[in-house]
Amino acid sequence: MKPAPFDYVRCANVPEAIAALSGDEGAKVIAGGQSLVPLMAMRLARPTLLVDVNDVGLDGITVERDVIRIGACTRHRRLERDPVIARVAPLLQEAAGLIGYPAIRTRGTIGGSLVHADPVAELPTVLVAAGGFVVVRSGAGTRVIAAVDLFTGFLDTTLEHDEIVEDVLLPVAGTRHGSSFCEWSPREGDFATAGVALAIERDDDGRCVALGAAACGLASVPLDCSTLLAAVLGETSASGALLRQIARVMRADLAGDPDRADLVGLLAARAVHRAFARSDERSAAAA
Ligand SMILES: Cc1cc2nc3c(=O)[nH]c(=O)nc-3n(C[C@H](O)[C@H](O)[C@H](O)COP(=O)(O)OP(=O)(O)OC[C@H]3O[C@@H](n4cnc5c(N)ncnc54)[C@H](O)[C@@H]3O)c2cc1C
Repeated sequence: MKPAPFDYVRCANVPEAIAALSGDEGAKVIAGGQSLVPLMAMRLARPTLLVDVNDVGLDGITVERDVIRIGACTRHRRLERDPVIARVAPLLQEAAGLIGYPAIRTRGTIGGSLVHADPVAELPTVLVAAGGFVVVRSGAGTRVIAAVDLFTGFLDTTLEHDEIVEDVLLPVAGTRHGSSFCEWSPREGDFATAGVALAIERDDDGRCVALGAAACGLASVPLDCSTLLAAVLGETSASGALLRQIARVMRADLAGDPDRADLVGLLAARAVHRAFARSDERSAAAA
């Protein structure tokens, strides 16, 4: 099928894009087009106007003390390859590299992935696990939305029609940080069936003092699993007993399809194992 007819405007700055969105109820932002264009081709989306934000200057990466600010139009490929992201947000780097295949990652953007809000997408899961935020702007001003308040259901967010995501904010990883994104897909490059994003922070004695975790593929939004993984807090290593306990707890306590809960339990145990190993490597490199 071909898309329904639409108009197109390529904006030079954010106010211009907001004005274009506000002036047409059927208007939609287009960034990488990797999710919106397929929906349009299937006529599941019929925007009357596409507001192109690729030239509005939203593709920077800056570290501000303990927060990393990523422009909404930053491509997945850059997240995958940028050395600053690798150092301060390794969970995001790993997750970006798991999205589709290189052609998709070269066009797709972090803002587009978050607003598209696919329940099996990697980046919304990372945002929830890391306790991140998005900064959105409209004619009424700017507001900051926490990850847990952004996703409301299948392909749905709390964003208003005339709001544009400008930036994504994530905490900067500490020197004893460890993280892992573990997922399972039927074929390489396919969307995952389910996945787990995990980030841990450890103290100088190697004890896990903080963790954030989220799972995709179980519900219509990424599920915050931090409480289910509380057994990891205080641990100095990923012992076999701990990993078995995690798989068991996840399997028992996650609602929905039991096979998927089983899968997520195994992925969570694997994520804990890798996060400790990576934290050890990071500490050794920093010493
Ligand atoms: C074959 C294929 C495989 C894929 N595999 C995966 C995968 O494994 N994992 C995965 O997560 N994704 C996958 N994707 C989707 C891909 O990651 C998209 O790039 C991403 O979901 C959307 O980013 P985009 O920049 O292309 O957004 P677009 O398609 O341009 O837009 C998506 C939505 O976001 C809105 N939007 C975009 N930017 C903004 C903004 N700054 N402010 C407000 N609204 C905005 C648009 O209006 C639209 O509603 C795949 C896509 C394809 C075609």
